[in-house]
Parts: sequence; structure tokens; C-alpha cells
Amino acid sequence: MPVKLPLYFDNAATTRTDPRVVEAMLPCFTEVYGNPGSRNHSFGWASEAAVDKARGQVAGVLGADPKEVVFTSGATESNNIAIRGVANMYAKAPAGSAGRGHIITAVHEHKAVLDPCKRLQKEGFEVTYLEPGRDGLITADMVKGALRDDTILVTIMWANNEIGTINEIPEIGRLCHEKGVLLHTDATQWAGKMPVDVERDAVDLLSMSGHKIFGPKGVGALYVRRRKPRVRLTPLVDGGGQERGFRSGTLNVPGIVGLGAACEIAAAERDAEGPRLLALRTRLEQGITKALDTTQINGHAEKRLPNITNISFGFVEGESLMMATKEIAVSSGSACTSASLEPSYVLKSLGVGDDLAHSSLRFSLGRWTTGEEVDYVVDKVVAAVNKLRLLSPLYDMHKEGIDITKIEWAKH
Ligand code: PMP
Repeated sequence: MPVKLPLYFDNAATTRTDPRVVEAMLPCFTEVYGNPGSRNHSFGWASEAAVDKARGQVAGVLGADPKEVVFTSGATESNNIAIRGVANMYAKAPAGSAGRGHIITAVHEHKAVLDPCKRLQKEGFEVTYLEPGRDGLITADMVKGALRDDTILVTIMWANNEIGTINEIPEIGRLCHEKGVLLHTDATQWAGKMPVDVERDAVDLLSMSGHKIFGPKGVGALYVRRRKPRVRLTPLVDGGGQERGFRSGTLNVPGIVGLGAACEIAAAERDAEGPRLLALRTRLEQGITKALDTTQINGHAEKRLPNITNISFGFVEGESLMMATKEIAVSSGSACTSASLEPSYVLKSLGVGDDLAHSSLRFSLGRWTTGEEVDYVVDKVVAAVNKLRLLSPLYDMHKEGIDITKIEWAKH
């Protein structure tokens, strides 16, 4: 069957909303439209019931109690509430003074974790940024080495959004519990797709997002542990006291219902979907690496999400490759800032050089990715790389056995 263009291989950026999710949401715009906070009429009760159902569905994929689920606008907000909320609640010294407490995170976390941490540094907290090895992994031993008497929070993502590497969350969680330190995990790329049990995995706070799991954009959740230990948070936004006071504001009922439905579908299909995605990704990786020399798959070989692969194509500029394969939507290893094209800080943290980081593409597969699509992508990418390399004198030199890293270029 011919594939329908353009092809979407950017599911780590966002996903198409599952039509079953849309169907679940639709009545919330025109029929179930009461404010769930309206406790005194049937419109409010109907909305509250819809939110309660969704809370149960979200709790279900986390192994949590529904009371531990706080609805937010997405993982960015969940991360901010968790990190800044814990820091301010458990601070060891008053605002404005130094020595307020220590936080552990990693250099290749998402900006929605790094930026709140940076802000806290300005407010008197100390932050340790762990550095991964070549495989991108953060281990419990690394965290152990960084723990201090004044550590109040460890925030480590479950799986990385650029390379898919899976960190040792259960081990880190158990370590934190032993030491009486709270663990927050940004599980945006993990929760819903892979199994979570907040009890077994010893997680105290967990962020997730609807739009990464075939749900709507602009809605997410934060899991906040209520027992052993009971986590307390200073809210970022004050107001009507919704969501146990952690996140005031009228609830986004359609979004929340969509997130709940997305979780339920993901949980029901996860066991079949994981191996299907892994087989497709293997087909993609093998197709590309067998046909092309000087390619490299970034991240851990095995401890990696089944739907993400990040490939560096030596002697090819990632942006040019994207232009040459315009009918395939992927992400590049570069981030456009206003002034320049910066190589990805995640790839750099693994020791990938600037050149190779600029030569990298992230392919992320999803619920509707097919084998035919994967084959099309392999053919297109291989042809485009070969064509671009024809134009590369450096590639010619490499083929002739010249080590181009050792060349001394003339200065004019
Ligand atoms: N954390 C990670 C790991 C992510 O991949 C993303 C989305 N790129 C976010 C946080 C932000 O999520 P949201 O869009 O829901 O705010």
C-alpha cells in the first residue's frame, strides 16, 4: 500500500489526538459544561463526575490513589509546581538568605526542569547537575555520590526526550527513600507508554503530559504522594483552592477528560504496542545503518524507549538532510535560538561533538506508524544522505582514509 505523505516521525514532540479521545472530550464542550466547583447544581455535579472518572484513569496508569493526582496545564507546569513547590516548602533557611537547601538534577534534563532549578539557585538554593556518560544514563550510584545532608530534592527524568535513554528511576527512588530525600521525576516521555507503579518505584512526585500520549495539548498531571511520606508543596498560583490548593483555577474539564481517556487507552494497549514499536524502530535503525557507513545511534543501546531513535549521520548537516526529506517530519539535533543554530545540549552532554550533533536527527514513532512508512523513511533518508555526501569533500577525504580531525587548516 502506498504511504500517505507527509509522514509524521516526531511523536516525541507531540502526538495526534486519538479519535477515541476526541470523542470522549466532545460532550464536555456542549453538554457537560458546568464548573466542577459548582457543588450546588446538577451541571456542576456532572462535570465533577467526569473529572473524578478521569482522575481514576490517570491514577490507574500510575498505580496511585486518585487523591494524589493534581491536574495541570502540562508537564512544564507540573515540573515547576513540583520543583519550586518542594524547594519553597522544605527550605532550610528563610527567603533571601543562602544555604536554603540542595537539589540534585542532571545537565540533560528538559528545560522545564533546568530553568526552575536555575531560578532556585538565584533564590539561595544549591543545585548539583549530574553529568551522564556516553550512554546518557543517570544511575542510582551517581545520585548517591551527590547526596548531602542538606539535599531536599532529587529531580531526574524517567526517559530522555531526545535520545530515549531510560534512567534508573526505581533504584534512585529506593535510595531517596532510604535517605529521606524526595524524588521528583519528569515522566513526560514515559508515563502512559511504559509501566509505572509509584509504590514499587518509590516515586514521590511525577510529571506527565496529555499530548505525548495521544491526548490533547494543554493538559497534564502531577502525582503528589500522600503517604510515606506525605509530600507538601508551596503552590505557585493562589486562588480558588482547586486541586487540594496545589493548583488553583477552574478545571479544564474537556482536557482532563481527554487525558483520562488517553491514559485508559494507553494502559489497555501498552503491552502490545511496546513490542510493535520496538520492531519498527529496529527495522528503521537497521535499514539506515546497514545502508550507510559513518552513522551512529545516540543514547543507550538497550535502555531506551522503544519509540525513539537519535541518529548521527557523519558528513551531513542535519538541517540540510531535513530539507532534503521534507515530506518526513522529524526533529534535528540542533535547536534554533533567535541568533544561531545551537547544537543540542543533550547530545553535547553525552560527549557528541558539535559537528556530529548538528548531523543528528531524532525519529520518534507513534500509534499510527506502519512498516511501510518505516521502509519509505529508510529509502528516502539513505538516498538523501548519499546525495549530500556526494557534495562533501570531507567525506571524500574520509573515504580515502584521511583522519579529518587531525587536519590543520590554513589560516588566512
Ligand atoms: N519534559 C519532557 C521530557 C518533555 O519531552 C516535554 C515536552 N517536550 C516537556 C517536559 C514539556 O511538556 P508540556 O509540553 O506538556 O509542557
